Amino acid sequence: MLVLVLNCGSSSVKFAVINTASKEALSSGLVENIGVNGHFKAKGPVDNQDYNFDCPTHAEAVSAVQKYLDDQNLTSSIEAIGHRVVHGGKYIRSEKVTQDVIDYIRSITLFAPLHEPAHATGMECAKKIFPTLPQVAVFDTAFHQTMPPKAYLYGIPYEYYEKDGIRRYGFHGTSHRFVSAEACRMLERNPDDTCLITAHLGNGSSCSAILNSECVDTTMGFTPLDGLVMGTRSGSIDPAILFFLAKKYGYDVDRLDKLVNKESGLLGLSGLSNDMRTITKAASEGHAGARIALDVFCFRLSRCIGGIAMSLPRIDALVFTGGIGENSAAVREQVLHNLQLLGYRVDTEKNSCNGKNTNGIISSDHTPLAMVIPTNEELLIALDTEALVR
Ligand code: AMP
Repeated sequence: MLVLVLNCGSSSVKFAVINTASKEALSSGLVENIGVNGHFKAKGPVDNQDYNFDCPTHAEAVSAVQKYLDDQNLTSSIEAIGHRVVHGGKYIRSEKVTQDVIDYIRSITLFAPLHEPAHATGMECAKKIFPTLPQVAVFDTAFHQTMPPKAYLYGIPYEYYEKDGIRRYGFHGTSHRFVSAEACRMLERNPDDTCLITAHLGNGSSCSAILNSECVDTTMGFTPLDGLVMGTRSGSIDPAILFFLAKKYGYDVDRLDKLVNKESGLLGLSGLSNDMRTITKAASEGHAGARIALDVFCFRLSRCIGGIAMSLPRIDALVFTGGIGENSAAVREQVLHNLQLLGYRVDTEKNSCNGKNTNGIISSDHTPLAMVIPTNEELLIALDTEALVR
């Protein structure tokens, strides 16, 4: 089945056409700067396009995608649309898109203010522009809904969970689910009897503990700010730091929001960049800020892996994925070095060979398994979509 996968953000629409049989993307692209000055960039079987155009709303962006897919002779073969949705609130699995689903996504706007309205609008536009195609919503949070209360509750008064839904939701669920299934397949293990830790490391990063294919703990929380140190996000910090800064500098909520979401993480620590390529290169050349940013990133990650490991009876494999997890041998090596207590030992040669294009084991023989598996969220969205519309 050909599935159009749409990821509607606040000012962008990413798309991919996935063939679920061959598991290949036939076309992919992006409309960005919606509302400002649209920019379209895509590759397809007929040609590639890259142009600026007037794109005031998501409707124009989805129309531009349709026109491009027409030109690529793909539209008539597409049988369904799968939407990536950041926050699924109550949803525990992917859902067919109905008006109720769209209304619910809008109703939880406060949980992800930039994303949820854009997802709802994207679904409405797609319904108008592709009226005959069934649509499915695939939620980043759904995979984590199997966590037990002891893992998802915060230590604040219980009434805020009951009244306001304040709890750990977790994110990157599609990626954690994809790579955990891949790990079982590659290791020829029974998914109903396998314990895994998955580390999705990109601009946003999170780790999950997965017991028999179900998530039992994860590092992201009520929002994707919790947990690991990321590109520009602080990850978990003592919340009293925010009270201190508010009192000392008079910072309001928006200033603090920007500080911990956009100015922190690798960027804030290094004073140089949020990009792990720049950080690892500068660290190896002796840049002190980059060195400390890399050390904090890897130490926090190791500490979180050690922490969530406590929700598993054993660890059958530790899986690295995401832009950093797949590409940075230096980060993987440092993290495995920090995890010596759990028995991990890196195989330097395997670690430097395996990555984006070669799945594989990176730990030494006869030591606990660590491996790299490239993630493919679009493919999983397409497969879920196919399963629900068939
Ligand atoms: P993602 O959000 O999954 O696209 O990942 C983006 C992150 O991956 C950025 O921090 C990039 O610097 C990082 N990344 C991509 N390629 C490499 C590489 N070859 N070495 C280190 N980090 C990389």
